[in-house]
Amino acid sequence: MATDIVPSLETIVSLCKRRGFVYPSADIYGGLNGVYDFGHLGTLIKQNLRTLWIHSLNSPRGEIVQIEGALLGPEAVWKASGHVDGFHDPMVDCKACKKRYRADELDLKKGCPSCGNNDWTEIRQFNMMFKTQLGASESAATLSYLRPETAQAIFTNFKNVLSTNRIKIPFGIAQMGKAFRNEITPKQFLFRMREFEQMEMQWFCKPDQAAPEFENWVQQRLSFYEMIGINLNKIRTHNHSKDELAHYAAAALDIQYEFPFGWKELEGIHNRSDFDLSQHTKHSGKDLAVFDEVTKTSYTPHVVECSVGLDRLFLTVLFDAYHEDTIDGETRIVLKLHPAIAPIKLAFLPLTQKLNEQTYKVYEFFTQKGIACQFDTTGSIGKRYRRQDEIGTPFCITYDFDSLEDGCVTVRNRDTTKQERVQIEDLAQYLGF
Ligand SMILES: [Zn+2]
Repeated sequence: MATDIVPSLETIVSLCKRRGFVYPSADIYGGLNGVYDFGHLGTLIKQNLRTLWIHSLNSPRGEIVQIEGALLGPEAVWKASGHVDGFHDPMVDCKACKKRYRADELDLKKGCPSCGNNDWTEIRQFNMMFKTQLGASESAATLSYLRPETAQAIFTNFKNVLSTNRIKIPFGIAQMGKAFRNEITPKQFLFRMREFEQMEMQWFCKPDQAAPEFENWVQQRLSFYEMIGINLNKIRTHNHSKDELAHYAAAALDIQYEFPFGWKELEGIHNRSDFDLSQHTKHSGKDLAVFDEVTKTSYTPHVVECSVGLDRLFLTVLFDAYHEDTIDGETRIVLKLHPAIAPIKLAFLPLTQKLNEQTYKVYEFFTQKGIACQFDTTGSIGKRYRRQDEIGTPFCITYDFDSLEDGCVTVRNRDTTKQERVQIEDLAQYLGF
């Protein structure tokens, strides 16, 4: 019997720690606020999400190439992008208890949420970039920043990519990697972190194609969430009105997911017009326009951006997959993850330790194919099933004494809990590997 419960944030945080998906960073020193480490299973899920994401960008309309930009960037890049002058959050301190808040997330008239006093400092603008110096000398020439977004490496490499890949407009440059924002108040676990990973694709097209391409990409990105099995009732789009638009955007849409803490942005799709390439042309003095062989004129390409937070997507798939049901009078926690996202695909369970050797041979056959498997010999079969359900393993394979005679194993399905006897030699085909 399944009950449709919405897990709380605490439930997911505790599952992540208990099963080694995510740990607080520097845990033994008390953790680092807004920074997390990913354990074995979390790392595997992230790898799966990256693979699914890059495949989902394939388009008949043009090629997608990838880059991996540096995390450090000179001040000039962030001047051109507008981050040095404009990437601020308003900050305010409670004079009584010294707690710091984002002024736009607070009703100052209601007083301090922590101590109740109503005595505030002036609201100041706080730049969210992490600033550092390259090398031993402190001068303007060595001033650098950890990137607050991945997009700029794509724009600054636009000409390099174009001249080394034999590609023509339209095409996309995709990048996955870390970005850093010194959030005043990181919160909601992986939702708003100070160090996080983005998966971004910038689609370069002719100016008159930006509006229709924006619509194409909205549809293609929505179908990604359907493809990876997210409950579509919890997905909605939000179109930015004129006054919500960022300074660089001609049109923008958020794909949002309904978290227990509200509808929140999962992916942003922006029509960035020619803002970025024009800015970098102006600031670098290098012409980033391209020449159109047909019209014999040159133009600055326009950009449609699709930007997902990998950690947010990770959190989303956990919330979405989390189920509790009752089997034989016992509550079980099961992550109904899409098999392509599941960190472990198959668990091999010898009925007793006496069958370890025979079971291990089957296990080895699948691990040698590069399939993520677990070999679990401890506890009752029921307990071992529960352990696998909790991490979303789609199939458990039990080897028992009958297997020695009939060459069959029991395959147990995570979602239906139904069991079937399958010939070992047919197993790969049965499981679809
Ligand atoms: Zn206070």
